[in-house]
Amino acid sequence: MTDKAGSPVGFLPYGRQTIEDDDIAAVVAALRSDYLTTGPAVDGFEAALCAETGALHAVACANGTAALHMAALALDLGPGDWIVVPTVTFLATANAARYVGAEVVFADVDPDSGLMRAADLEAALGRIPAGGTAKAVFNVHLGGHVGDVEGIHALARRHGLTVVDDASHALGTRYRDPANGWNRVGEGAHADMTTFSFHPVKTVTMGEGGAVTTNDAGLAKRLRLARSHGMTRDPLDFQQADLALAADGSPNPWYYEMAAPGFNYRATDIQCALGSSQLVKLRRFVDRRQALTDAYDRKLANLLPMVRPVSRRETQEAGLHLYPVLIDFAALGFDRAALMHRLRARGIGTQVHYIPVHLQPYYRQRYGAPDLPGALGYYQRCLSLPLYAGMEEADVERVTTALAESLSAG
Ligand SMILES: *Cc1c(COP(=O)(O)O)cnc(C)c1O
Repeated sequence: MTDKAGSPVGFLPYGRQTIEDDDIAAVVAALRSDYLTTGPAVDGFEAALCAETGALHAVACANGTAALHMAALALDLGPGDWIVVPTVTFLATANAARYVGAEVVFADVDPDSGLMRAADLEAALGRIPAGGTAKAVFNVHLGGHVGDVEGIHALARRHGLTVVDDASHALGTRYRDPANGWNRVGEGAHADMTTFSFHPVKTVTMGEGGAVTTNDAGLAKRLRLARSHGMTRDPLDFQQADLALAADGSPNPWYYEMAAPGFNYRATDIQCALGSSQLVKLRRFVDRRQALTDAYDRKLANLLPMVRPVSRRETQEAGLHLYPVLIDFAALGFDRAALMHRLRARGIGTQVHYIPVHLQPYYRQRYGAPDLPGALGYYQRCLSLPLYAGMEEADVERVTTALAESLSAG
């Protein structure tokens, strides 16, 4: 027997969307409207995302990968430029640099949090070959947690680097810094651009969707060009007066211009209608994820030190995407695959976030395999347990009981 999502009844995946009747109604209304692609729902979603994050500009797009690619395009990154990326992330963070011909230098991470530290950024910069220029750092808020974003931002500025945050996991996260008080992820206190994903496992979803936020009007304009073919209809941008202007000097009504090719990375009105409906629920979803996390922390306390939650920055209220634990498999006597199989047999889905990207064949062939011991230490121990807004505390109890049984089954 399967439920509506196609999972065995009672099966708890590591993450899944929460779609409610008003979300469905919002999509139906978009389908009945005059616009399917770029219409008022796109503007509405972008305005809602600005309101939520506090950013001045939000540019919605097709998915989180497109958001990262658009950020690389907006910065005009290309061959000879090097981008620092923490190796514990999803493939797309690093691939964005390669899409534009820039090179990736992988940074190590804290073995207990999976987050890049300022010292890791500094060490990565030191590994850029002579002749290469460090241009940007694409930082990652793994699981929804921010690390030392202030230290990373200050170091990046000293080296003339632009900071892009891949906040695919961190919509809704707030953190307190001694200088400014509370900051929201996406607000741009310590980043020039912030990218988001609205894939169904993320905290809110558009089916597929993404966005970039920034406070820089110039970057926002370049992001919009990258999103839609490099086309502009703004007369102030026109370079070719002979083609652009009518006899009376006014712009020709059909005219558009392209200075450099962009992509079709637009989000549709259908996606944005769903996104806006979901954004209204963000606080509720974040609170729910926090309550479930607290329940996990309490119930897992008696599995210490064999199983422990990842270490977290205290001065934050995180919009949590994942509930990763660190498990001492070396002491356990059986491996992670065996544990995942045992949990699956008990109806519990788990996942590993992530295989360090520098270990992928493509990147090994290109850059060799740098020694990144923090990342390996994290990777060898991490396992993400189910966490999503539709879970109940009883589900947490089920997971922790199954985990305790699976660990002691020998
Ligand atoms: C999900 C994710 C992406 C990619 O987002 P898509 O919307 O799936 O393209 C990029 N980076 C991280 C860290 C992610 O988790």
